Amino acid sequence: MNKEIPYKIYLEESELPKQWYNVRADMKNKPAPLLNPKTLKPSTLEELSQVFCEELAKQELDDTTPYIDIPQEILDFYKMYRPAPLVRAYCLEKALDTPAKIYYKFEGNNTSGSHKLNSAIAQAYYAKKQGLKGVTTETGAGQWGTALSMACAYLDLDCNVYMVKVSYEQKPFRREVMRTYGANVTPSPSMTTEVGRKINEQFPGTNGSLGCAISEAVEAAQAKEGYRYVLGSVLNQVLLHQTVIGLEAQAACKKYDIKPDIIIGCAGGGSNLGGLISPFMGEKLRGEADYRFIAVEPSSCPSLTRGVYAYDYCDTGAVCPLSKMYTLGSTFMPSSSHAGGLRYHGMSSVLSQLYDDGLMEATSVEQTSVFAAATQFARVEGILPAPESSHAIKVAIDEAMKCKETGEEKTILFGLTGTGYFDMYAYQKFNDGVMGDYIPTDDEINESLARMPKLD
Ligand SMILES: *Cc1c(COP(=O)(O)O)cnc(C)c1O
Repeated sequence: MNKEIPYKIYLEESELPKQWYNVRADMKNKPAPLLNPKTLKPSTLEELSQVFCEELAKQELDDTTPYIDIPQEILDFYKMYRPAPLVRAYCLEKALDTPAKIYYKFEGNNTSGSHKLNSAIAQAYYAKKQGLKGVTTETGAGQWGTALSMACAYLDLDCNVYMVKVSYEQKPFRREVMRTYGANVTPSPSMTTEVGRKINEQFPGTNGSLGCAISEAVEAAQAKEGYRYVLGSVLNQVLLHQTVIGLEAQAACKKYDIKPDIIIGCAGGGSNLGGLISPFMGEKLRGEADYRFIAVEPSSCPSLTRGVYAYDYCDTGAVCPLSKMYTLGSTFMPSSSHAGGLRYHGMSSVLSQLYDDGLMEATSVEQTSVFAAATQFARVEGILPAPESSHAIKVAIDEAMKCKETGEEKTILFGLTGTGYFDMYAYQKFNDGVMGDYIPTDDEINESLARMPKLD
């Protein structure tokens, strides 16, 4: 018997997942190991522990433990804004006049405005537990820096954020949120690091990039006693922490006998998508159920759909370990699209392997179509979505419209990763009809691919 499905399915606090799920344990083909940038041999625990907190380095390397306990302190923090609701998009379904059933998992219900807080608090916790003084990181659009500032304030850790210069100038309010939570924010490239000075000399007046800010943050961590570097996406550990999204979604689905046919998420570095799909992917890998998974990326930065699967640098200065991933090359400069959180040249090595094995699909969408979907969604569902999240909305709507044509009553689940209040400049461009679509040419992509390290 089908239960009446409420607009919002909230789990009880007591139903919060107590463990993260490590999908690598169920993967037959494991993601390729990180490589030390100097020796080009697999990074050891000892080497990784120079850059990351030790417990996080362990999580990074752990391909075999399926469930990892969430420490009580992190659970307590999660309780401030979780469980996050699974929402039945009744209003969107009605507006689309589709027989499809649409659900979204909403992660925008905290001040940082996105899912990134799920990993920020975990990373800050392990840094604190190790007795460190503080952490350094980069931020592009600012969501990760904001989330980390909140987590560090809660745990009384020093937080140093290298913010891509163009965002530092264009998003002063994000910067002020971080400072309000006590973080030091430095525009990158800066003159405070060797790599920053070098880049400033080479490219005077540069607007900066994520890859450059990462190099600065790593250097800053290594230069200071009692500091480690933390990263907001791409890494296995981040994907692991984000599985709280998928585990909650899975539990909410079970409660109401909801069986998604298609699960959709936007993909920047892959952490929200990986976190959402992992538990469902686990069912698929173990042969218990089948799902279609779709990664949605911007056509301006299409690492899965137009990149290559190979070892590449994660940052401009090549100080981070190398990762085997779908990549456009670490020197690829995505055009200044408005989905800052999706402007990264590479992809999580877990998702890259799953995609390469044909277990997940990927598609790319153009910016103006994304904002059209965002606007449509905001008007009927009420939430003003982040541009990044709206990539998933766009494809969810497309799939629902296909159901309308065929009459199929498919169940669609997508990740609504955050809210877009700090992206109103982008919405303004769209509303004024002056937003463009930029798709890199094959030549541009090939140029950057040609500069990649040749290892395999
Ligand atoms: C950072 C961000 C993303 C993309 O990052 P992933 O690691 O790919 O999840 C998506 N949505 C929002 C709102 C973000 O802030």
